[in-house]
Amino acid sequence: MQTRDRLSRMRQSLYELAREIQELVPVFAERHVLVKGTVYEQRRKCGKPSCHCATGEPHRSMILSRSEEGRTRLIAIPSGHLKDLELLTERYQRFRRARARLGQIYKKMISLIDQLEEARRREP
Ligand SMILES: [Zn+2]
Repeated sequence: MQTRDRLSRMRQSLYELAREIQELVPVFAERHVLVKGTVYEQRRKCGKPSCHCATGEPHRSMILSRSEEGRTRLIAIPSGHLKDLELLTERYQRFRRARARLGQIYKKMISLIDQLEEARRREP
C-alpha cells in the first residue's frame, strides 16, 4: 500500500511539473527585446583632490554590467535610457530564470519517469 501511495504521488508530481512547463512556455515565446546584463548604480571618487567628491558625495552613474566571453564588461548607461534598460534586463533575467527552471523540471521529470518505469517493469 505504501508503494502505491508513493507511486501515486510521483504520478501527481509528473502532472504538476508538466503544468509548470506550460506556464513557462509563454516566457520563451514572447517577442519582446531582451538585454543581457544587470543595471546598477556606481558611486565613485574620481581622484582629483579639488573635486567635490574628495570630501563629499561621490559621483554616481548607472552601469550595465554583463559577462562577455567570461569577462565582466561595464557599460555606462546614457541618461534617459535607464528605465528602458531596467525593463529589458529584467526581462532577460526572467527569461534566463525560466530557462534554468525548465532544466530543473526536466531533470526531476526524468528521475520520476525512471522510478515509475522501475516500479512497472516485469520480467516476461
Ligand atoms: Zn570627483
